[in-house]
Order: sequence, then structure tokens, then C-alpha cells
Amino acid sequence: MVAEKPADSQNEQSTDVLKSTQSVIRTALDKLGYPEEAYELMKEPIRMMTVRIPVRMDDGKIKVFTGYRAQHNDAVGPTKGGVRFHPNVTEKEVRALSIWMSLKSGIMDLPYGGGKGGIVCDPREMSFRELEGVSRGYVRAISQIVGPTKDIPAPDVFTNSQIMAWMMDEYSRIDEFNSPGFITGKPIVLGGSHGRESATAKGVTICIEEAAKKRGIDIKGARVIVQGFGNAGSFLAKFMYDMGAKVIAISDADGAIYDPDGLDVEYLLDRRDSFGAVTNLFEDTMSNEEMLELETDILVPAAIENQITKENAHRINAAIVVEAANGPTTLEATKILTERDILIVPDVLASSGGVTVSYFEWVQNNQGYYWKEEEVQEKLREVLVKAFNNVYTTSQNRQIDMRLAAYMVGVRKMTEAARFRGWI
Ligand code: NAD
Repeated sequence: MVAEKPADSQNEQSTDVLKSTQSVIRTALDKLGYPEEAYELMKEPIRMMTVRIPVRMDDGKIKVFTGYRAQHNDAVGPTKGGVRFHPNVTEKEVRALSIWMSLKSGIMDLPYGGGKGGIVCDPREMSFRELEGVSRGYVRAISQIVGPTKDIPAPDVFTNSQIMAWMMDEYSRIDEFNSPGFITGKPIVLGGSHGRESATAKGVTICIEEAAKKRGIDIKGARVIVQGFGNAGSFLAKFMYDMGAKVIAISDADGAIYDPDGLDVEYLLDRRDSFGAVTNLFEDTMSNEEMLELETDILVPAAIENQITKENAHRINAAIVVEAANGPTTLEATKILTERDILIVPDVLASSGGVTVSYFEWVQNNQGYYWKEEEVQEKLREVLVKAFNNVYTTSQNRQIDMRLAAYMVGVRKMTEAARFRGWI
């Protein structure tokens, strides 16, 4: 669960994320030889909607919520990306995240552009009925710009399959058709896909396997550190544990636990609470900062942004850093780690398993024929391995870090699509 921040600091952080994303996009487009107008088109979403959503609360009063939907670029196909419910959602953050979704779709070679949505609200303080009201109200407010062939939402921070089900139902009423392809991350009985829940962690696992091959590390017996034990981190720790890796440390918002012989991940999963907290059960803990600097083969930040910065990048003691979280490493730290020959697998590549299985869900909805779990896993692996190697080869051939290489791969398809359409 993300800790809350004061609105000002959240706004500042959103500005930083947007600026650093834009700066890497500019470099990527320059290296690909595109003119300035390509950057002018790609630096911001092509469409941004702000909505006000009135909801009658349980106390009988009307509360008006603010929501956003950003569509970054639809040259390749419909836009796609999650909707987050959080008190710190800002317009800038939603804009930046829609650009990331375009990059992820481009890197995975999916027929989408990026989209993102958010509602400023605190679901932890709302009843089930109030949440339903906000979810349905949001869909009514944005219904003209979304749809299975226009823009396809999905779950994100504090939204889940129940919320997707309400949103799908509302859209189907407006559209007067049953429209499962309007949204992904639905419950299986409403057209959800097998493998969606653990898809992000599965994608990270596949990236770890590929990165380990490049660095000659055998996953069996390899030391792994996972920061964050929520949805992404806990599934990932379990996958690594099942593959015979030694998960030597994990952490949550309160601290970290460490055992050089490997932690019992199954036991930790059993004891974890619904907010991804487990270290409060132990006396002998260390700080997240200390944990990040432990010697390990593989380090996976899977919690929050800005964890590896120019302050600690010199002390990171890992062979490979695989970013499951969004934005855990700053651009300065990326440079330092790359100079130290630490292989970084960037967020836009490593955490794209979720959007990939969301794409599979949409394909299954459109064709009305559903795949078994094994088929989903096999197709996910195929997409991820191809994407990883594409980015890795680009980084090797051009002698650039994996982040810039991923941005180059990610931005190329949509820029080419825009060029063929005559937009630039
Ligand atoms: P989550 O809320 O389920 O879990 C977050 C975990 O991080 C919890 O264990 C929490 O205790 C821990 N945490 C919070 N603050 C911390 C701090 N200051 N230091 C260390 N740990 C802290 O979230 P999640 O869905 O697992 O997402 C984690 C990251 O992965 C986010 O950056 C998210 O954007 C990214 N991500 C997740 C998915 C997904 O499908 N879940 C997909 C793409 C990217």
C-alpha cells in the first residue's frame, strides 16, 4: 500500500516523473533520427479529460469527486491503461503514466497506445456502495472517449476486479451491448483472463531469467532481494523461491528481514496481512536503506519510486537490478549503476506482464473464445522474451543503458505509425 504524501510534494514528484520521462523520450527520438515535431507530438497526451463525479454518500450527502483520463497516443491502436483510486492522484501523474503505458505497449509490441486514469478519493475510507457509485459515475463521465476500440481501462493502485466489473456493467448499459472488451482485469466469470493476477510478477520473473542468462547466473541458488511484499513483490518472491533461488531479504513499509541462508517465503506469505506487511512480526529487522545495499545477485525494487538515487547507487551490491516498481531508480542512479556494469532491467520492460495479459484478455473477449492458464503463460513468455532481447540487443549495439534502449524500442512503433498516418 502506498503511504500518503502531502499534496504539494505529490505534485512536485509528478512534475519530476513527467519531466524525466519526457527527457528520455527526447533522447530516444533524437537517437532514432526523428525531427523535433515527433517529440512535440509524443511529449504529452493527445487527449486529456477532467471530470467531476457527484456521488450520494452513505450519510445522504452528495460528494463531488474529481477524475481524469489521459490518452497519450492512438496512432497504433486504441489506448490502454489502468485507473487508480488514490487521494494523491494528480493530473500530471496521470499524464506521465499514460506516456509510460504507450512505451510499455510499444516495447511489448502490442497494438495499443497508452492511456491512464485516476480518481482523487480514498477507497480505504469508503463503503462498498460508495465505491460502486464512484466507479459507475466515472464511466458515465468518460463514456464518450472510451470503449473497446477507443480506450480500454484496467486496474491500478487501489482498484480491483470488482471495480472493473461495475465499470464494465455501467459501460454495457450505456452502450446497450454486453461489452466485456471495454475493460480488462475483470473477474473470470465476466470474461477475465487466467493468469492476470500474477501477470506482472510473472513478467518480472521472465526478465530475471533472461537477465541472469546474460550475466551467467544460475537462478537455482542465486541470491534475490525483493523490496515490497505487496501484489508484485510477494508473487515474485514466491516464483523465485519455487525456482530454487535464495530469497535472502524482503521488506515492507516498516523495514526489512534478512537471512543469508534464504527466507521461508511460503511462511511469510501465510503471515502477511492484506496491506503487504510482514516485518512487524519479527524483532530482528533492518531498514529498507540497509537492505538495498546488501550483497546479492538480483535486486528487485517492487515497492515505490525513487529508492535508488545518486546517494546510494555507488553502494548497491547487486549484479542485476530488475525494476518491478514504477520509477524506483532515478536517471542519475541509472547512469551510475550502468557505469558500474550493473545490469538494470527498466520498469517499462520488467513490469509489462500486466498490460500484456490485459491485451490477451481483450483478445479473448473480442473473439469470445477463452484460453487455458498454460496457453496464457506460454504466450506471455513468448512476448516477454522477445521484448527483453530486443531491448538488450539495442542497448548492446548502441552502447547505451537498458532504460534508454527500452524507450527507443517503445517509442519507435508509435512514431512510425504517426508518420504513416501523416501526423508528423
Ligand atoms: P502493493 O500496494 O500491493 O504493495 C506495495 C508493497 O510495498 C507493500 O508490501 C508495502 O508495505 C511496501 N512499501 C510501501 N512503502 C514502502 C517503502 N517506503 N519502503 C519499502 N516498502 C514499501 O503494490 P503493488 O501492486 O505490489 O505495486 C508495487 C509497485 O509495482 C508499484 O510501483 C506499482 O506501480 C508497480 N507495478 C505493479 C503492478 C501490479 O500489477 N501490481 C503492475 C505494474 C507495476
